[in-house]
Amino acid sequence: MDAQPSLLDELLRHGLLFDTGVDGLYGRAGIFEEVISGIETMVVRIGHVDRPEVIRFPPGMNRAHFEASGYLKSFPHLAGTVHCFCGDEAAHGSLLADLEKGRDWTGGQKASDIVITPAACYPLYPIVAKRGPLAAGGGLFDLSSYCFRHEPSTDPTRMQLFRMREYVRVGSPEQVVDFRSEWMERGKTLIDKLRLPYVVDVANDPFFGRGGKIIANSQRELGLKFELLIPVSSQANPTACLSFNYHQDHFGKLWGITQADGDVAHTGCVGFGLERLAIALFRHHGFDTTQWPAGVRAELGLT
Ligand code: AMP
Ligand code: ZN
Repeated sequence: MDAQPSLLDELLRHGLLFDTGVDGLYGRAGIFEEVISGIETMVVRIGHVDRPEVIRFPPGMNRAHFEASGYLKSFPHLAGTVHCFCGDEAAHGSLLADLEKGRDWTGGQKASDIVITPAACYPLYPIVAKRGPLAAGGGLFDLSSYCFRHEPSTDPTRMQLFRMREYVRVGSPEQVVDFRSEWMERGKTLIDKLRLPYVVDVANDPFFGRGGKIIANSQRELGLKFELLIPVSSQANPTACLSFNYHQDHFGKLWGITQADGDVAHTGCVGFGLERLAIALFRHHGFDTTQWPAGVRAELGLT
């Protein structure tokens, strides 16, 4: 008997994703992008009532800010840096010779001032800190970015380059906690409208190493991260499609973000994994969007 085609095989076969030869790096078809735009429009429809400040970053961030963020302490295994050739003509000659001989040519590459953004909210905090104390109502931001995580996989929901849409709240502990509870409800409403099955559960980030296990356990015990999980690649291990994070005063202290009264600001964010949500829709409603339930098509604005 033939083995069941994998979800990735199906997405490639139906022309929704395009293989680049690297696991976790795919081209997207027009209809895949239409679904993503539809999801983003739904997210904006729900979130714009709060009048967030919209900021868009390119998928790279300041390396110095990345180094200061602590990301390398927690997730060295996921980070991606941008390296460039900065040599003279002789160095160029040896690069070409290495390339020609099939040897490693990357040794002479030097780190640039840019790293690939690991999560849409990372470039935001130093900008907010630089503005000085927050207004009494705190801050609310609407962000979106391609993000990189070095986790090559043949599971199409685990990409190396993917888009994350985020709302970020900066302010008092109460403001941030309220924001997170509100978005947990809004997130469920959104997924209900898309007629997808889900559970919401406490979660942890994939902190590196043995020490990381302790941090992950404490994150779970304190209820700092929740995820909305949808069965996509596996029934037994549903996929995190939305994340609801409370960072307490971690970023506030790190960057010196202060509330109007001078206290350290707390932060939290809600993250939408756009490719994961799109793939969940294809997995549950089929690979042909014209056959999707009319209500789901209407929600997504598919014509
Ligand atoms: P996180 O910062 O890990 O909570 O990620 C925020 C959201 O991004 C998650 O809820 C996922 O939906 C999405 N995400 C995280 N990692 C990946 C990945 N490797 N591929 C696609 N989406 C991802
Ligand atoms: Zn975030």
